[in-house]
Amino acid sequence: MSKVAHYLQDHLTGEVMTSSDVREYFSTDASIFEQTPAIVVYPRNENDVRKAARFSWQLAERGRVVPITARGRGTDQSGAAIGSGVMLVFPAHMNKLLELDSKTGVAVVEPGINYAKLQQTLHTHGRFLPPYPASIEYSTVGGAVANNASGEKSFKYGNTRDYVKGLRVVLANGEVIETRRLSKRELNKKLGLQTFEGEVYRGIDTLIEENRDVIEKTALNVSKNSAGYSLLEVKQKNGSFDLTPLIVGSQGTLGVVTEVVVDTEAHTPESTLILAQFDDMQLAEETIQELSGLSEPPSSIEMVDEHLLQFVHANNPNQLKGLIDPPFPKLVTLIEFDNPSPRTQKRMAKKAIKVLKKLQVPHLIETDAEKIEELWKIRHSAAAVISHNNGKKKAIPIIEDGVVPPEKFQQYLGGVYKLFDKYDLKVALWGHAGNANLHMQPFLDLSHVGDRQKVFRIMDDYYRMVISLGGSTTGEHGDGRLRGPYLRDLYGDDVYRLFQNVKKIFDPYAFLNPGVKMDVTMEDIKPMLRQEYTINNLADYLPKT
Ligand SMILES: Cc1cc2nc3c(=O)[nH]c(=O)nc-3n(C[C@H](O)[C@H](O)[C@H](O)COP(=O)(O)OP(=O)(O)OC[C@H]3O[C@@H](n4cnc5c(N)ncnc54)[C@H](O)[C@@H]3O)c2cc1C
Repeated sequence: MSKVAHYLQDHLTGEVMTSSDVREYFSTDASIFEQTPAIVVYPRNENDVRKAARFSWQLAERGRVVPITARGRGTDQSGAAIGSGVMLVFPAHMNKLLELDSKTGVAVVEPGINYAKLQQTLHTHGRFLPPYPASIEYSTVGGAVANNASGEKSFKYGNTRDYVKGLRVVLANGEVIETRRLSKRELNKKLGLQTFEGEVYRGIDTLIEENRDVIEKTALNVSKNSAGYSLLEVKQKNGSFDLTPLIVGSQGTLGVVTEVVVDTEAHTPESTLILAQFDDMQLAEETIQELSGLSEPPSSIEMVDEHLLQFVHANNPNQLKGLIDPPFPKLVTLIEFDNPSPRTQKRMAKKAIKVLKKLQVPHLIETDAEKIEELWKIRHSAAAVISHNNGKKKAIPIIEDGVVPPEKFQQYLGGVYKLFDKYDLKVALWGHAGNANLHMQPFLDLSHVGDRQKVFRIMDDYYRMVISLGGSTTGEHGDGRLRGPYLRDLYGDDVYRLFQNVKKIFDPYAFLNPGVKMDVTMEDIKPMLRQEYTINNLADYLPKT
């Protein structure tokens, strides 16, 4: 066992593991990459995290970098939940709901809490946390915070950043900060602190004051965005200041989260669902735009395309039998209304139907809860692609999360179909039509040299297209190692330099999840490509998506 592992064992209360089995288990996440950690730690409390960070900081001061990577359930598809140094695995012990205020619905949780368990508890209080990802059954809230995750309800409710009210964060040197929106006066106090926390506040405040015009450039014309660092919301015009939005979405590269304060919404089990079918993509785009303009937009506008339905039909003909049968339309969308007031819900659904009738879109409306659940299976059938085994070819997440301006939706779809044609690959699309955020995973064999080379060519073509449409390379899954190399192209040199400065302020020795998001090149990630892609770690669950 190394000296670092010995030190950690002597000083932490959580388990410190160096066995090859454990290290191998944590050498992959749900991405195409692998990297084996030197040491795996199951922190028991915040103090363990502080000590690990403090130790890494002291080593770094002496010129030795020992990376620290935080990890939830490892469902990250961007390669951000793997690392070569110390891996802090949160679900083992730091997995509790600490507080739930039943009046305000505000909850305080530890990062390793299972998202679905939290959701279940919230439901019993008539509440829910809306931006849950499709991986809700197995992923953690800490992972969702670090990725700024979102999902099928984000069209109406927004992303994780919109719900995180405060955080406890262990900084690189082991100091703990509590983030929340501070008044101008409170900020001034922070700016005067002679600690690393003070340095961080001074650094970020100065950076914002001196670069307002550059920061404006990070506001892309998309409805959701998990690329880069979010600086826009940190300092508001009235002088109030909050580091929370910056930490959310930072993928463990600025600090390690040990506590999360989240807002929740009222939850209504009853909803109204409209299934609409399109054979004309222009009409689909027009319809979605009209629905977006309703006084209260739908909670979801989700989609699957004809290729996905054909795939499910070919591989498991009974799965969607009776729900939707061939010949399939080019696009199926599920449009949901969930207003807690049944009257408002009905009124809004009526308005949506009026739009669909006007545009002559074939549709059906459902209010029965059981039937609605059945219809959602159409959207969730995308899991069939992810869990499919076509010999050694697997659906691999390399171009799975681009988001474009809503008015470019049709162009985006067309571009993706062309791309799959170019590489002679079978295509299947699903995702968040309302957000113009599509998911797709080409079938490739990572043990095959030709396919390995294709991976990076497909990525280049896809990300260039998304950027040229004015979109973002990632709507919800994060940059990680996969999309880190495209950040400069996405935002330009000025913004990228700003992001580098943010990273330097929080992590001057660059040991917090290095190689993720910032300063990562294609040359860095190519050697990390796995020989075989699996998500065996998640095999206990059917990957819903
Ligand atoms: C089948 C499938 C479907 C998916 N669907 C969606 C979806 O609908 N929407 C979506 O947004 N994502 C989706 N994802 C991606 C991923 O599941 C989510 O982003 C999820 O929230 C990650 O949670 P996790 O616990 O697995 O985090 P991990 O994968 O363990 O970690 C994710 C990131 O969070 C960081 N992190 C974890 N804990 C901490 C902490 N305490 N402090 C600081 N950083 C931390 C890690 O370092 C890493 O950078 C999907 C993935 C799969 C495999």
